[in-house]
Amino acid sequence: MPATRSIAGGVSRGRWLIVGMVLAVASSVESASAAGPGLDAARAYGYLQKICRIGPRPSGSRGMAEQQSLIAEHFSRLGAQVSYQPFDAADPVSGQPVRMSNLIVTWNPKATERVFIACHYDTRPFPDRDRRNPRGVFLGANDGASGVALLMELGNHMQDLHPSRGVDFIFFDGEELVYQTTGRYFLGSTYFATQYRDAPPPHRYAAGVLIDMIGDKDLDIFPEKTSVRLAPGVTRSVWAAAKSLKQREFHPTPRHEISDDHVPLNEIAHIPTCDVIDFDYPYWHTAQDVASRCSGESLVKVGRVLARWLTLPPEEQSPIQ
Ligand SMILES: [Zn+2]
Repeated sequence: MPATRSIAGGVSRGRWLIVGMVLAVASSVESASAAGPGLDAARAYGYLQKICRIGPRPSGSRGMAEQQSLIAEHFSRLGAQVSYQPFDAADPVSGQPVRMSNLIVTWNPKATERVFIACHYDTRPFPDRDRRNPRGVFLGANDGASGVALLMELGNHMQDLHPSRGVDFIFFDGEELVYQTTGRYFLGSTYFATQYRDAPPPHRYAAGVLIDMIGDKDLDIFPEKTSVRLAPGVTRSVWAAAKSLKQREFHPTPRHEISDDHVPLNEIAHIPTCDVIDFDYPYWHTAQDVASRCSGESLVKVGRVLARWLTLPPEEQSPIQ
């Protein structure tokens, strides 16, 4: 480090000590801001537990209604705008209409250039990959609650974060109203994307990040292949944010190819959207997807990356693809 040596050159031992202390303070300030807004792992995990204690939260259920109240109260208290985007879809078994709602949390509503972070907040009706109990109780701690819990924690820091664009948190309903193989995926994100295309709002989304299954205790996130194909610029920028934070759980080489809520956002709404997902989760769609398989540390590791991404300058946040 030649620059440091030139500062030391010619100064007395005592002066060098002071210079050293100043440098140490400067670098600790730098690393504090690099670490982001001090997300609280224990509090994030507490949110996840609270959501799981509601019980199953499939579309149209009492559990979903209770969760909606919890989310709306949380973000209203933090000063965000909360709105619902209701729609109906047929239950795949009974054929009866199910009232669903995407929930949208808006920060800095005046900004017409916006980005979003999204997750699904409905849970699968049954743990149908569970060999022992495919009709048991599915709590969706990782596959459902993790994204909600992380956004609740991130919400606590939004006033201090100074994002480079307006930010929305979007909670999609009807991601998996699917019984075994009966039903359709991505109902909420498809409705949202179709509305955005056919009845455009006054604002424009420059980019989006979807989070799904990011609470696994054993966190490993790989660039997802559909995201790399459909939203290469945003995927690169999220991974660049992770790299700048030395977040080792974000691996460089793509692994899984996943259909998720980001597909309609890319293909119907044409909003470049990247899926951040840990798909190596042995309890996926089983009755074992419970809070004890998740950790607050994992939530905040992803949260720090998202916080960093939100503050990137626009040209780095959504580079030309
Ligand atoms: Zn799922």
